[in-house]
Amino acid sequence: MPDLAHVIREISEEMTERSDRGAVADYIPELARIDPKKFGIAVIDAEGQAFTGGDSETPFSIQSVSKVFTLTLALGMAGDRLWKRVGREPSGNPFNSIVQLERERGVPRNPFINAGAIAVTDLILSGHEPREALGEILRFMQFLAQDPSITIDERVAASEKRTGFRNTALANYMKSFGVIDNPVDYTLGVYFHHCAIAMTCRQLAAAGRFLAHNGMNPTTGHSVVSAERARRINAIMLTCGHYDGSGEFAYRVGLPGKSGVGGGILAVAPGKASIAVWSPGLDAAGNSHLGRIALERLTQRMGWSVFGA
Ligand code: GLN
Repeated sequence: MPDLAHVIREISEEMTERSDRGAVADYIPELARIDPKKFGIAVIDAEGQAFTGGDSETPFSIQSVSKVFTLTLALGMAGDRLWKRVGREPSGNPFNSIVQLERERGVPRNPFINAGAIAVTDLILSGHEPREALGEILRFMQFLAQDPSITIDERVAASEKRTGFRNTALANYMKSFGVIDNPVDYTLGVYFHHCAIAMTCRQLAAAGRFLAHNGMNPTTGHSVVSAERARRINAIMLTCGHYDGSGEFAYRVGLPGKSGVGGGILAVAPGKASIAVWSPGLDAAGNSHLGRIALERLTQRMGWSVFGA
């Protein structure tokens, strides 16, 4: 088997030198200021050893990668009741699309498109004050990453709130069908803030380890979810984690993965490793351009695709 440290070094070098980077998200003004030349990668293997490259210790806005963790939390609270308010089919539409909501009476296609994640956030919020719900989500991230220093970037949250007209439309539209229980402002406030959690590649890879190891962090011994639930979250990441780029990601990388418009991707190699990459430039579907290419190189070299070597 190739030497993982060596492979990561080569990938980091290649990604730092490439000039095709995609474009940073500018619909959230705070994200438009991020240096597109950043590249980071962190891989944590089954033994808990971390292999890192590039800007792996620089915090970035995890954005939609947070949706993996809100889904995990919401499933813990509501179990299969969750599937009454959100489906689990790939959307084939952009992450912020509204078209399908009309056809399906306000029920979003899956928990990873914006509409679906807003519905999931609404469920976590029910019965709580927004501040408590947000605290719960942040503490969950800190617990998973075993790092209490993880915080929310208030500037990014405020920036998105100021310009989040599309998400406001999605939430109101769902509310008109009774899919959102709480005041739309509250639900969106929590949603914008969990998208604005800032983490490094190393912290994100640590937080994702339970998905690679049957629901358990093999180092701490903490059981986060059952093996069955981890398997199912991975299935949704594989089919829906990259919006209308999910097919291409499965074809090229072959791992469950979740992207965010901050340029991060969390990918899971079951039984082998938890992986986080970050490169802020996005492709047309809003997924990290070089992040995907880096993961493609990694899975090819290591033979980690879930579909075989
Ligand atoms: N906060 C972002 C939004 O709602 C998340 C989108 C993403 O990362 N794809 O638009």
